[in-house]
Amino acid sequence: MQFDILTIFPEIFSSYLPFSILGRAQLKGLLQVKLTNIRDFAKGVHKTTDDRPYGGGEGMVMKPGPIYRALESIEKLSNKNLVILLSPTGEQFKQDMAWELSKWDQLIIICGRYEGIDERISSLCIDRELSIGDYILTGGELAAMVITDAVSRLIPGVLGGSKSNLNDSFEDGLLEYPQYTRPRTFQGKNVPGLLLTGHHAKIQSWRRKESLKKTLARRPDLLEKAQLTPEDKKILNNLKIK
Ligand code: SAM
Repeated sequence: MQFDILTIFPEIFSSYLPFSILGRAQLKGLLQVKLTNIRDFAKGVHKTTDDRPYGGGEGMVMKPGPIYRALESIEKLSNKNLVILLSPTGEQFKQDMAWELSKWDQLIIICGRYEGIDERISSLCIDRELSIGDYILTGGELAAMVITDAVSRLIPGVLGGSKSNLNDSFEDGLLEYPQYTRPRTFQGKNVPGLLLTGHHAKIQSWRRKESLKKTLARRPDLLEKAQLTPEDKKILNNLKIK
């Protein structure tokens, strides 16, 4: 899969993308990240990428021309490419969307800066406008890294054949159960005894219960859409009564 990221700060990405799982996946050729500097497509001696907003008001707006030309320069690998604009006003990026995006061959992601991007880019060239949450970042670069990271780990082979992501929070609509590792006792706190028994079935049902408990306490909104068995519902009812 290929990510093409359009930004005026390509240097930012070298602090994150070459490392750990994403770094190894790139070395193995499972994913490629190409950075395009929007400034290279700006005109004039100063290579200006922003200008004052029509109608007045605070701050600067990214000019449409350099972004349009930068987009035109991107080689489309197949018909399965998607052009994404990062914006706090976009549709909220979530785990099910990460799965959906992981099925494309190429994601072309545009990072805004300043007060955002001239609105005409949206109607001319964008397939999807995405937000990573209800807060304002100074630029789209962190959002691009968040999306690249979350999507990449769903590409077959990126997690090295491990299926650990199937138990992750949100995968089955619930938050993940608590995890423990050595030592058995840490600062006077013990690992739950059941996890040391080796009794696989009991451990599974303990984990399911803990998962339901945590979701009920922290994200009850998720339970409305989660796929719950009759046993899950019974556990939840008991938890609600307590
Ligand atoms: N004036 C804009 C508004 O109120 O909606 C905010 C612009 S923000 C300071 C600059 C850029 O950062 C945006 O164009 C976008 O690319 C990126 N950005 C900021 N917050 C974001 C978020 N929550 N999700 C995705 N991108 C974000």
